[in-house]
Amino acid sequence: MNKSIAVIKGDGIGPEIVNEAIKVIDKIAEKYNHTFQYQDILMGGASIDVHGVPLTDEAIDIAKNSDAVLLGSIGGDTNTSPWYKLEPSLRPEAGLLKIRKELSLFANLRPAYLYDELKDACPLKPELIEGGFDMMIMRELTGGLYFGDRETKEINGQMVAHDNLVYSEEEIRRIAKRGFDIAKKRRKKVTSVDKANVLDTSRLWRKIVNEVAVDYPEIELEHMLVDNCAMQLVRNPQQFDVILTENMFGDILSDEASMVTGSIGMLSSASLRDDTFGMYEPSHGSAPDIAGQNKANPIATILSSAMMLRYSFDMDEEATAIEKAIEKVLQAGYRTIDIMSEGNELVSCSEMGDEIVKCL
Ligand code: NAD
Repeated sequence: MNKSIAVIKGDGIGPEIVNEAIKVIDKIAEKYNHTFQYQDILMGGASIDVHGVPLTDEAIDIAKNSDAVLLGSIGGDTNTSPWYKLEPSLRPEAGLLKIRKELSLFANLRPAYLYDELKDACPLKPELIEGGFDMMIMRELTGGLYFGDRETKEINGQMVAHDNLVYSEEEIRRIAKRGFDIAKKRRKKVTSVDKANVLDTSRLWRKIVNEVAVDYPEIELEHMLVDNCAMQLVRNPQQFDVILTENMFGDILSDEASMVTGSIGMLSSASLRDDTFGMYEPSHGSAPDIAGQNKANPIATILSSAMMLRYSFDMDEEATAIEKAIEKVLQAGYRTIDIMSEGNELVSCSEMGDEIVKCL
């Protein structure tokens, strides 16, 4: 297969971790006889330094004309970097919001997986994580409270603010379909999370999810209230496979789920639309405190590239090979500084990439 990948290395540790992901993808190309063509584009601070804006129209065009985008991370130290003295629309993060919008990415996928070898980093009691957990949080990205109209004004001498929470049937249907499709490739269970005991938008959400479920008889569907879900994530995370939810609930629950894995350098993410196109990036930021030192953990980015192979290129076997190689490297005791523990071997960012390539 021949696929084109727009590559945004980004800022801070971005270039270091993306280079390791590319090493791994190149090994997959060699082993499975694929051709991957990379085209570098600038975004975030790197683009501000060259073009004066965090994302150019030319960069957007290149991303739109590729089969997928692989992103490192963008941004700098928000206290000291000159990028944060610019007006908000010219700062690094504005590039990220713009590219998500321009590429019509509406579904964010964040896996939370507990590696046996990293169980010590999990803040939950050992008896709660016996057997590990492996869930996928699917969050709607373009609707809900963050995009409704809002206002702060004075009424009768006091300030009053409102934010409008809006969802259309179509917005709910398209993300629900993606959620069920993803569950088909996993353990075939969807937990749809809402607040249907209070909110109209949640009642519509539940109705539409039930309608979509009719087309997926092989998938087990349950509905859960968001407050209960927040508790269940720390009480019994094993029960979850795909968690399907709206924008703000997903924002909060995906951070909670990632914290229970305990290792920020291990968490991948994908943003998808209704065809096969997607943008793939680690869940963490640009870690300016360790940038340029060859210390960063590249695994989140390498796992994101495995998601790219699975969800954008339909290369399940290749994606699984990468995931298995990472497990082998962890079993062999190789650790970057963020996941280092006694008795293991400390490796650099590039050495971690090399070890994963060797296991492929
Ligand atoms: P961060 O995720 O960059 O770092 C938090 C802590 O985790 C730091 O101590 C860092 O060293 C460590 N860390 C993160 N990733 C690591 C890795 N792969 N290996 C080892 N250690 C790792 O969060 P922050 O410090 O709050 O943000 C730094 C910059 O990143 C800010 O400009 C922020 O806006 C940006 N950011 C970008 C994205 C993105 O590009 N999608 C996401 C989050 C934050």
